[in-house]
Amino acid sequence: MSKTLFEKIIAREIPATIFYEDEKVIAFKDVNPQAPTHVLIVPKKPVPRIAEAKPEDHDVLGHLLLKAAEVARQLGLNEKGYRLVINNGPDAGESVPHLHCHILGGRKMAWPPG
Ligand code: AMP
Repeated sequence: MSKTLFEKIIAREIPATIFYEDEKVIAFKDVNPQAPTHVLIVPKKPVPRIAEAKPEDHDVLGHLLLKAAEVARQLGLNEKGYRLVINNGPDAGESVPHLHCHILGGRKMAWPPG
């Protein structure tokens, strides 16, 4: 099976500005930022989207969220806050079929989201 875009970033076949990496996840700058800070945190296992996550993905999903908070803290977003976003499917605007969590911060966010 061909690699997802994010697997190519993990394999260093596509360049990215990487902020964090361990054996389960990688966090890198979004190429089309929607906020002053916009980072994607991605499980190395290519789960296509959250709706297709399996019970055996429990640990990696927990790790993803804990590390998202750690990366946000390291990026200086803790004091003013930040938003974590997971887009699932076409209505949500998902464009890369490899599960990822957006970390958005550095500006005031609107609610409801667009
Ligand atoms: P989503 O629309 O939730 O699927 O998010 C996919 C995100 O991947 C978008 O915010 C894109 O800007 C981002 N993206 C696409 N290609 C790259 C890339 N080569 N490096 C970093 N981010 C990317």
